[in-house]
Amino acid sequence: MPVFCTKCGFQNDEYTQTCLQCQAPLPVIGGYQPIQPPTPMYGEQLPVQDWKQAGADKKVIGGILAIILGGLGIHKFMLGYQKEGLIMLLVSVLSCGTLYPIMHVIGIVEGIMYLTKSDEDFVRTYLIQKKGWF
Ligand SMILES: [Zn+2]
Repeated sequence: MPVFCTKCGFQNDEYTQTCLQCQAPLPVIGGYQPIQPPTPMYGEQLPVQDWKQAGADKKVIGGILAIILGGLGIHKFMLGYQKEGLIMLLVSVLSCGTLYPIMHVIGIVEGIMYLTKSDEDFVRTYLIQKKGWF
């Protein structure tokens, strides 16, 4: 909303602090706070150097677990995908191991995908977006 100068009545823009016409200081409207300029970090999701801290170190462990024990869904549990891990585990166990090779192939594919992603990609895809499969 525009700010009217108390001295000359000139209509000033919202964020003006002194009257554009007579240079008089403009009144502060009841508790009005000027909008803070955005901080330098504004708009960035995470600083680049924090990908490891954000969980990128799970990439290698998760990838290896997925390739070795993929059919048991261990890598899913490790990354916080309880539901997906349980599905893989149950499919392998309840089929008495007959479907384990299929689950293991899924695990190997996922393990390779983890390992070939960059730290940033890995964190964004699996820890932020929580992509359940592949
Ligand atoms: Zn004025």
